[in-house]
Amino acid sequence: MAISEELLRKYAALIARTGANVQKGQVVSLTAAVEISAFAALVAEECYRAGAKKVNMEWMSDAQKRLDFTYADEETLCEVLPWEEEKLKQMTKDLPCRIFIASGDPDAMAGIDPGRIAAVGRARGKVIKPYRSLIDGKHQWVIAAYPSEKWAEKCFPGDPDKVDKLWDAILKTVRVSEEGDPVEAWNAHTQFIQDKAEWLNGQAFSSLKYKSANGTDFSVELIPGAKWEGAGVTNPLNGAFYIPNMPTEEIFTTPMAGRCEGTLVAVKPLSLHGQLVEEFSVTFKGGRAVSCTAKKGQELLEKTIRMDETSCMLGEVALVPKESPVNQCGILFYETLFDENACCHVALGAGFKEVLPGGDGMTVEEAQKKGVNDSIIHVDFMVGADDLDIDGIKPDGTVVPVFRNGTWA
Ligand code: ZN
Repeated sequence: MAISEELLRKYAALIARTGANVQKGQVVSLTAAVEISAFAALVAEECYRAGAKKVNMEWMSDAQKRLDFTYADEETLCEVLPWEEEKLKQMTKDLPCRIFIASGDPDAMAGIDPGRIAAVGRARGKVIKPYRSLIDGKHQWVIAAYPSEKWAEKCFPGDPDKVDKLWDAILKTVRVSEEGDPVEAWNAHTQFIQDKAEWLNGQAFSSLKYKSANGTDFSVELIPGAKWEGAGVTNPLNGAFYIPNMPTEEIFTTPMAGRCEGTLVAVKPLSLHGQLVEEFSVTFKGGRAVSCTAKKGQELLEKTIRMDETSCMLGEVALVPKESPVNQCGILFYETLFDENACCHVALGAGFKEVLPGGDGMTVEEAQKKGVNDSIIHVDFMVGADDLDIDGIKPDGTVVPVFRNGTWA
């Protein structure tokens, strides 16, 4: 492998310190694929150097998951066993720093019945979600990526240098290079995003209108007082500023559930459980997705929209200028962590109660009453066409250009 040990260490340190911002005495839960155990160990070491009390490894395997879905019966797969629940309980006590390193094969689950995947997700979600809700907003977390052979093959089919090329793209988007100091680069980047978020918050728009030549014609109401956020979050329990996604380019908020109209046309494929939905659009009426069309993966998209009562409503709107380094790489990553940072997007499903004033302390039900959608899914899809215009509408009807031709007006 062409990538140097020094560069790998820089990246591992960035994930542990700038990303998760591991504090002295914290427990860390580190999730990574078995194939990348050497890099996971580097990240774990950086966590210990930052003062972690204990780093617990959670090993993943695409191959194992595929075997489970091929051979095990659905009832078995749906079951959350007592020991798994004990682990979740322990998590609500430890409030660990959670680090996820994504390196999966985008096609890992190709050919597996999407209905089966959805049913298992739904059943397990019912048990797992209450525990997740208990730690929401109370722990630091970060998702970063590591290029696997299969993932690289998807992005650069047949290319003998595919893994190096994917490394190159990933490191560009996370601002890690031989010469530069990634920590400094991230400080400047974080500042830019926070300035834009502050501007949006000052404008206090009541709704946004989207228009582009591909057929996107859409308006969405915002929650009065809900904040636009981006780049990083402060853990209210210890004041640690962390960056949940690396890369991150977006400024996002949660819109008013049940208040949007019109059609959004996707500009990039959506990778769901290792399967692709391509060339699709979703039409909303009265805030709910009422229809969708897709050239590929229509059934999977429909099942996703109908995963539960509220998965047809939006939980997120996010603004990303087309100059984003993810977009500049000019490739499809087949991985939401990257592709959602290429351009503007929305998400079906759960919203973020943290965007509400005092939202951290609210129960899910309280946040729901204020308009924050709750669902077992949160699925982003990209709508940021190169000619996308977005207007902000103020409560008095004033129209302010926010985006013109896919970037900040
Ligand atoms: Zn997003």
